[in-house]
Amino acid sequence: MTKYIFVTGGVTSSLGKGIISASLAKLLQARGYNVTIQKFDPYINIDPGTLNPYEHGECYVTEDGAETDLDLGHYERFLNRPTSQANNITTGRIYQNVINKERKGEYLGNTVQVVPHITDEIKRNMRILGESGEFDIVITELGGTVGDIESLPFIEAVRQFKWEAGSNNAIVIHLTLIPFLAAAGELKTKPTQHSVKALLEYGIQPDILVCRTEHHIGADIRKKIALFCNVNVNAVIESIDASTIYDVPLLMLKEQLDKIVLSKLKLPSKSEPNLELWKDFLGRLKNPTSEVRIGLIGKYVELPDAYKSIIEAFIHAGSKNECKVKVEYIHSEGIDPETAKNALGHLHGVLVAPGFGSRGIEGKIDAIQYVRENNVPFFGICLGMQCAVIEYGRNVIGLKNANTTEIDENTAFPVINMMEDQKNITNKGGTMRLGSYPCDIKKGTKAFAAYGKAHITERHRHRYEFNNQYLKQYEEAGMVASGINPDSGLVEIVELKNHPFFVGGQFHPELKSTVANPHPLFIKFVAAAMEYAKKKTN
Ligand code: GLN
Repeated sequence: MTKYIFVTGGVTSSLGKGIISASLAKLLQARGYNVTIQKFDPYINIDPGTLNPYEHGECYVTEDGAETDLDLGHYERFLNRPTSQANNITTGRIYQNVINKERKGEYLGNTVQVVPHITDEIKRNMRILGESGEFDIVITELGGTVGDIESLPFIEAVRQFKWEAGSNNAIVIHLTLIPFLAAAGELKTKPTQHSVKALLEYGIQPDILVCRTEHHIGADIRKKIALFCNVNVNAVIESIDASTIYDVPLLMLKEQLDKIVLSKLKLPSKSEPNLELWKDFLGRLKNPTSEVRIGLIGKYVELPDAYKSIIEAFIHAGSKNECKVKVEYIHSEGIDPETAKNALGHLHGVLVAPGFGSRGIEGKIDAIQYVRENNVPFFGICLGMQCAVIEYGRNVIGLKNANTTEIDENTAFPVINMMEDQKNITNKGGTMRLGSYPCDIKKGTKAFAAYGKAHITERHRHRYEFNNQYLKQYEEAGMVASGINPDSGLVEIVELKNHPFFVGGQFHPELKSTVANPHPLFIKFVAAAMEYAKKKTN
């Protein structure tokens, strides 16, 4: 029978429920359990696909093409196991399901209400992954903070779920904050007491408290928290600030979070967690033998969460190369042919980020011209790849004002064009080319050298594509289409022969980079930057 762990958050947002959930899952997985994590978000959007990155950070896309919360990226990076639509549910989706059922007459005669209809639908979704038979343990992270109006139906669903499943089969971990008051020189437990009291008002006694703190919490504070919150002292877990999120599983191991969870769920501890690969990764991450500076050119640079998976992919690839990758965020709106040298001249590599709309796109194109002409390693992702195609068309092939029809519908040279099957779509949500698609890699290319194989799959999220009418012209001018979708003939990767590293992918490689499997294109890009840095110092 599947066991369930619910993770709630108290006191404030941004305590890192996603990282705690992923770290606990990692430890349980390392003990030999099959674990998955799902996230329930209280907002009314059906999914974060229509949310501005400034609002919500990156939109993470799964293999099956779900547009999801960025925490799912952490789950995949930690567990090295794909997630799916079932791993991310919002209030919007719950209501949509219930309203669809109401229209079909499934509640005929009844008044449809938050309790029981919405809470039943939440509980049904909480069970879907568990009922697949694939998992021993399902961890459910509840977005939001206990006490928020909008998360109440989820909290009520957890209360019912726990009561129905029994205390050995479903437990609640409450993540809370123990602030340090500098003036008093003290750690304070009161916010935690209040947050647990709020949970108790809703009928939930948390089983374990994970306490975020900037300073170690001593035995006396643990005792106090235990006494006032009705938990065992060994169920008060310290979660101290870490220098990297990848330390958190080891910190949780030290605090024995996995052991206490297993004992509460009446599960055997099996073996000691096997974390050798994880520790190797951390060892390399913390002891780099070289360093590179890579510019991330985008328009959401004020909020690094907008590029979460890219940043993490650099951490994975850096560790693999034993190289510290210093990512510098550079606003594309500040770049033009005059400023490019100043803005980019000190870098060892440039990544041009994904994006939508016209703001900042000319700066991206100018940045690409600079790195192409100066042999600086370049990696373009999605819009970044499209910009590389535009730049090459304009400045090498001579297609004056070549553009993507996303920006200029009437361009004389639509080298990037809306896909045919996108043209009649008017709805915005969930309608892009989304999820995993196959790609054939041409032998003898940089892409082939990276992947080491001819057939791959990568995840997509876009409406526009390389316009194949121009393919011959581009290939004759030296831009190679090194990755092609075998079913549609769409160009998925472009690269330049006469450049140390100039690669653009229509897909999002960053979404598939994990601790266990750093992404091959990121590994090669970082290696090319290291090479460039070496040459520069010589
Ligand atoms: N806006 C571009 C498109 O829709 C690129 C999208 C992206 O970078 N994810 O094709």
